[in-house]
Amino acid sequence: MKYIVGNWKSNQNLTQSFLWLDDLIALKPKITPDKKVILCLPFTDIATFNQKLNESGLPIEVAAQNVSHMAPGKHTGEINAQMLSELVSYCIVGHHERRADFAETSDVVATKASFLLENSITPIICLDKPYLDQQIKSLFTQGVEVSKCIFVYEPASAIGTGNSIDPKDANHVAHQISFLTDYLSPVLYGGSVSPDNIKSYMDEPNISGVLVGTDSLNPTLFADIINAT
Ligand code: PEP
Repeated sequence: MKYIVGNWKSNQNLTQSFLWLDDLIALKPKITPDKKVILCLPFTDIATFNQKLNESGLPIEVAAQNVSHMAPGKHTGEINAQMLSELVSYCIVGHHERRADFAETSDVVATKASFLLENSITPIICLDKPYLDQQIKSLFTQGVEVSKCIFVYEPASAIGTGNSIDPKDANHVAHQISFLTDYLSPVLYGGSVSPDNIKSYMDEPNISGVLVGTDSLNPTLFADIINAT
């Protein structure tokens, strides 16, 4: 199975998301059974976008980009895993932007992953080299079943910069992540993936897919990435 995960970040209101979907439907991307296409949306789009997606018949799954590290209760403004469980089967945690801009620690990321798994949602856990060992250690310490997670190697220097890294280097780190997680989970690469470089990552033996930010916002580029996989 090859994973193509789009991450819209804090972009696209519902109206814009509908226009995006109309364009993607018209492009007829080739989503064969060996490809799993997952689109991580803002919370505000998830439910209504999913209805429209189901009507279109496109085999794409919607997902979330974040979840609360707290159990349901008195936490104003938080969206917890139990709430998400009626809407999505996947959720990103530990994205570099959340670690950098919201000071998320490896322990918080592990707590989020635990809540997601308790609610039958697959965590898509982003990792980078400075905290690779520490991040994975926190998962084991908190008893997260790593076999039920998807991992993504995302070098900070490559996120949103156009400076994708050498596929061989990405493959090397992907192997390191597989080794540290007992070879039980898919490992993806993320960082300036585009239609021009997608194949070079997919050809690497330890890389099971990609996480795409910028180019997932453009339906033509996202369709090209799906088709080139
Ligand atoms: C991302 O959002 O995780 C990402 C990799 O973004 P970009 O594709 O823009 O580098």
